[in-house]
Amino acid sequence: MRIAVFSTKSYDRDYFSRYNTNPAQELVFFEAPLNMQTANLTQGFGGVCVFVNDKLDAETIAAIATNGIKLIVLRCAGFNNVDLPAAKAHGISVRRVPAYSPEAVAEHAVALMLTLARKTHKAYNRVREQNFSLERLNGFNIHGRTIGIIGTGKIGQAFARIMLGFGAKVLAYDLYPSDALKALGIAYVELDQLMAEADIVSLHCPLTPETKYIINSDRLQHMKQGVMIINTSRGALINTKDVLVALKQGKIGYLGIDVYEQEEKLFFKDLSESIVQDEMIGRLMSFPNVLITAHQGFFTHEALEQISLVTLTNIRDFEAGVVNSNEVS
Ligand code: NAD
Repeated sequence: MRIAVFSTKSYDRDYFSRYNTNPAQELVFFEAPLNMQTANLTQGFGGVCVFVNDKLDAETIAAIATNGIKLIVLRCAGFNNVDLPAAKAHGISVRRVPAYSPEAVAEHAVALMLTLARKTHKAYNRVREQNFSLERLNGFNIHGRTIGIIGTGKIGQAFARIMLGFGAKVLAYDLYPSDALKALGIAYVELDQLMAEADIVSLHCPLTPETKYIINSDRLQHMKQGVMIINTSRGALINTKDVLVALKQGKIGYLGIDVYEQEEKLFFKDLSESIVQDEMIGRLMSFPNVLITAHQGFFTHEALEQISLVTLTNIRDFEAGVVNSNEVS
């Protein structure tokens, strides 16, 4: 089967080329994202391989279905960018990589948290300029703090275990509490209680209509003064406008984000020679207590290897008529 791979970067090409040993599985790489403007590139292909910021809305899905696309393979876990009813209506199978390395994302959340808590991003720059002063680098311990985890699936659980290792108190909220975490002594509480008691809130739920803007001005009012918020899940879990107000007021003391509401216009691109038109990210970057990374939580060798292998298996299984557990419906 010929697969058009969209939003390709050098590492996608490297890893897929390394693991694709089947000559019948021909992967053609496009740097462009898949959306309505690029849908005509799918002519002559049986399937498409996409990532987090490709936009598979109903219109795009109708267009690629007309071109004969029967399979969408996502090289990620989240599928909020795919209109599933539209895919179903056109008889297109959607398969994803449900777990490629939960620890990769959980560890990145910890990296954001520790950098903010200990100001290592500032210390790094200071020491490079031979400024060895400790003035204003005062941080705080994670040990003994209350960490609120929203969403305790694979990544949330990995994060929770690391937090227990730090000696933190962990509160969790999920529609489906995990028995494994309860057995470790983690308390599941209502969302309002978690928000009110947590020193650090880390978001690990998917983006759904229910979780969109789960961090908003109402919720922020009930959070601790100076709370730290970490978001490695999806940008729109946070209402960025509300968060900017809370940062200005000092209500949010620290913000670490690996995802951003309007990231598709920015992330995964080198815009260092461009005038960035997005006012909100500019404002966010101006705060000394905000740390932004450009959706790199997944970006480890272990995860890229697993993403390639599972994606290639998803394609092979589809061709063999095997409905595997990675099918999204
Ligand atoms: P998962 O499906 O294993 O876990 C998600 C958990 O969220 C589940 O336990 C589910 O019950 C819970 N949940 C769903 N709706 C909820 C709600 N309304 N309130 C509270 N909890 C709710 O997913 P995962 O593998 O742990 O991934 C979590 C998210 O991380 C993904 O959806 C994706 O958005 C994000 N992610 C980010 C990166 C990155 O590079 N930054 C990489 C992979 C995944």
